[in-house]
Amino acid sequence: QAKSEGKNRYVVHSSELLNVMMDEYMLEVDLRRALDNDEFVLHYQPQINNNTGKLVGFEALIRWQHPTLGLIPPGKFIKLAEENGLITQIGEWVINEACSQNKKWQDAGMTPVKMSVNLSTQQFLTRDLLAFMEDMLERTAIDPAYVVVEITEYMAMEYEYSIQVLEQLKALGIGISIDDFGTGYSSLNYLKNFPIDYIKIDKSFVSEIMNNEKDAIIVNAIITLAHNLRKEVIAEGVETQEQLDFLKSHHCDISQGYYFSKPLPADEIEKIYLEQH
Ligand code: C2E
Ligand code: MG
Ligand code: MG
Ligand code: MG
Repeated sequence: QAKSEGKNRYVVHSSELLNVMMDEYMLEVDLRRALDNDEFVLHYQPQINNNTGKLVGFEALIRWQHPTLGLIPPGKFIKLAEENGLITQIGEWVINEACSQNKKWQDAGMTPVKMSVNLSTQQFLTRDLLAFMEDMLERTAIDPAYVVVEITEYMAMEYEYSIQVLEQLKALGIGISIDDFGTGYSSLNYLKNFPIDYIKIDKSFVSEIMNNEKDAIIVNAIITLAHNLRKEVIAEGVETQEQLDFLKSHHCDISQGYYFSKPLPADEIEKIYLEQH
């Protein structure tokens, strides 16, 4: 009895593993075609100034509209794209799309706001990133003052090179944000030596500020530190009025999260913000 159960379990597991491997393989095949087939879409999440309550920016977040599997979130394919090298091309598509969209909105009369895009490590370390950015600015005619790149602490591993790239992006007029702050290989050195404009407090801290005193203390300390270094603070994952009140009372500058809006496709953003104007 026990023996046959064990055997069955083994069989089940090995076929499950095979399924997972097949799924991943198929997904990779599909991913290679997704760019050509125009299957990626961006959703935009509003960023709100905590003092004025006004919209000050969007974060562009990629989704994959798969022909049979439906809308796939980035958590399910970005890692794969990093492993097979497709991420650079996908990332370039994201930057182009997000910045052209922002320019279109500005031309249509929306109050100009910043557009943040997430950079992958590989994309950041690619030698052509700067040339690509210069070209993109020219092509889309977007004012670089409305472009922000979000990097993570992982990217700062190639220390000297990273500083150089960031300085050059800054020289182009592009803003720099450090994403998911506090979760990676955080080093206060980055804050000291990198030309960063914004610090984004990771949502894992924000979601606990009302329940866990330690998270509240950490969030408060990050805000104070950032302000003393003349950087602005963005809280991600703000979901409740209580969290927002806490952040406001601790002078956090900008909030982003489901409390205001989930990430939305361009046409829904237009319904809200073009009409408001
Ligand atoms: P991220 O850059 O930290 O983005 C924030 C994530 O939190 C997004 O998930 C967003 O939908 C989600 N979020 C926003 N507000 C709330 C909230 O109030 N509560 C909760 N629970 N979640 C909230 P998403 O869109 O699934 O993206 C996940 C991650 O995928 C991003 O984390 C980013 O690291 C990566 N990613 C997304 N788009 C791109 C891209 O174009 N390029 C690259 N390289 N990475 C991307
Ligand atoms: Mg981000
Ligand atoms: Mg983030
Ligand atoms: Mg995050």
